[in-house]
Amino acid sequence: MSAKRKITVAYGDGIGPEIMEATLKILEASGARLEYDVIEIGEQVYLKGISSGMEPKSFDSLRETKVFLKSPITTPQGGGFKSLNVTTRKSFGLFANVRPCKAYSPFIKTHFPKTDMVIIRENEEDLYAGIEHRQTQEVYQTLKLISQPGSEKIIRYAFEYAKKYGRKKVTCMTKDNIMKLADGLFHKTFDEIAKEYPDIQTDHKIIDIGAALIAERPEIFDVIVTLNLYGDIISDIAAQVTGSVGLGGSANVGAEVAMFEAIHGSAPDIAGMDIANPSGLLNGAIMMLVHIGQPEIAEKIANAWMKTLEDGIHTGDIYQAGISSKKAGTQEFAQAVIDRLGQKPSNMTPAVFDKSSTTPLNIKLKHVTKAKKELIGVDVFIDWDEENRNPDIIGEKLRKADVKGLKLQLITNRGVKVFPDGMPETFCTDHWRCRFKTAEESVITHEDVITLLNQIKDLGFDFIKTEHLYAFDGVRGYSLAQGE
Ligand code: NAD
Repeated sequence: MSAKRKITVAYGDGIGPEIMEATLKILEASGARLEYDVIEIGEQVYLKGISSGMEPKSFDSLRETKVFLKSPITTPQGGGFKSLNVTTRKSFGLFANVRPCKAYSPFIKTHFPKTDMVIIRENEEDLYAGIEHRQTQEVYQTLKLISQPGSEKIIRYAFEYAKKYGRKKVTCMTKDNIMKLADGLFHKTFDEIAKEYPDIQTDHKIIDIGAALIAERPEIFDVIVTLNLYGDIISDIAAQVTGSVGLGGSANVGAEVAMFEAIHGSAPDIAGMDIANPSGLLNGAIMMLVHIGQPEIAEKIANAWMKTLEDGIHTGDIYQAGISSKKAGTQEFAQAVIDRLGQKPSNMTPAVFDKSSTTPLNIKLKHVTKAKKELIGVDVFIDWDEENRNPDIIGEKLRKADVKGLKLQLITNRGVKVFPDGMPETFCTDHWRCRFKTAEESVITHEDVITLLNQIKDLGFDFIKTEHLYAFDGVRGYSLAQGE
């Protein structure tokens, strides 16, 4: 018997303390080799004036134990409070969000009884960087940042996860028909890494049809890997269609630290009533046990939990007349699971976790050779709201700017080419993207850009930002405009 593993535990707010008590009771009875460092998080901490919802000494606990079992918290209303989950994810580099979505039919109502998928969502990048600007009277922007190592890390994690958990297929979802560079990088990285896993089937779906298929035929999916925002949306669709919103657990995993929790919130409406379902947190704890190398205990608990559902012992939220045999309170449900430790479900497929490898997934990134980067032009964004926003007028004026042949090539408005030869029907805002290059796309310098900006200023324009046009090993590193 190996030594006890110390983990950090937080009881949270609302129903948090009740479901944590129930979960820890089951862990104790199962023989899980654990000891706890209990920290305070959430409402009380926020109200002490700590805007992250977690005290510095609690971060030290996580740094030491590297494993966090967390109950939901209540985020106080009003400004100034930061999401504890986002802070923890970002501070500890928890790059993978793992959310299994499984049907437990007929014990839990669902139209899709065969569903059994795992959504692996990139957790650190994409539109969640929170880099936003208002640039003109009319136009606001949010930056979507996708990196090569970020994509490689999450995609490798998805394939390693599939291998470890005996999953057959990994589906990548992006919108690379529109975002050819950012989403294209994710898809391309997926195709490259897939070659290293010939035993696993692969597939790519555009996110819109992918989401529709999750809603209509969820049973066709096994593991899905996707970008942060798409993953956020599809994991809720998947949880909803399996009927398991109240039952789902999730993991946020990084190279060092991992956090396990239920997918639901603190349910203040039923707090203190001993009626909350502890299954979401328990499923989070089961994932944690596999992560820390106690898969045999995880299996024992998962099977006892499924047997409890099969025996019709249900909390109020999943109670169905005709199927349920007993409406149980939170602690009573936990006791029913404890009573079944060692038993397996008779109708549902018993849980089996790989016991050969007891170490968490180790993701190693490939070495990438640095490309030769050359500056070959610049997009200058201009705030202009004059002359009835006639594109020919701004175009003709900007044509006067010329730095050794670095000249205006075209103007777009919200991505659509409006100069030269735009269509009179195109609606124009006050936000103009003006592309400057030399006719031969020759290399330019930063001094050329600064001289150009000075000329544009002298022509009377308000430039609001620039984006440099680079070639990497001779390959264009920017998108063409619609109509270019
Ligand atoms: P919620 O998930 O707490 O509750 C939605 C509904 O589901 C409620 O009717 C609730 O009673 C029910 N419910 C949720 N969990 C249940 C369970 N285990 N058993 C039985 N019924 C359950 O969502 P909400 O009401 O939108 O949010 C409440 C608070 O939780 C908010 O302050 C929110 O910010 C917070 N929240 C925290 C987390 C987290 O800590 N990870 C996640 C989501 C929401």
